[in-house]
Amino acid sequence: MTNKEISLVFSYIYSQRVNLERQINDFQSRLRYRNITETECLEFALLKERYNMFLEVTGHIKSLLCLNKKQSVNTCIICGDDIPNNRQVCTVCYNRYKGVKS
Ligand SMILES: [Zn+2]
Repeated sequence: MTNKEISLVFSYIYSQRVNLERQINDFQSRLRYRNITETECLEFALLKERYNMFLEVTGHIKSLLCLNKKQSVNTCIICGDDIPNNRQVCTVCYNRYKGVKS
């Protein structure tokens, strides 16, 4: 996976997490000042469980993705793609800059 793709996955995980936390807070605030029904109680438990499972699974995904991060890569200063450490631009951008048709 490229750094670009990894950061896409991370921002997806982050937005999903924020969304779940908002759902939990909304639910919680609706229950605060009254008696809740069994159904609501069950719904809330399921929502919490969904959130816990999400944290567990995405935690595993994040640690798996970080294993890849150990290989040293650089990013192209023009397009941001991954390139070897000893270069500043990728071959595509280099050729475009030099006017070489690919
Ligand atoms: Zn490039």
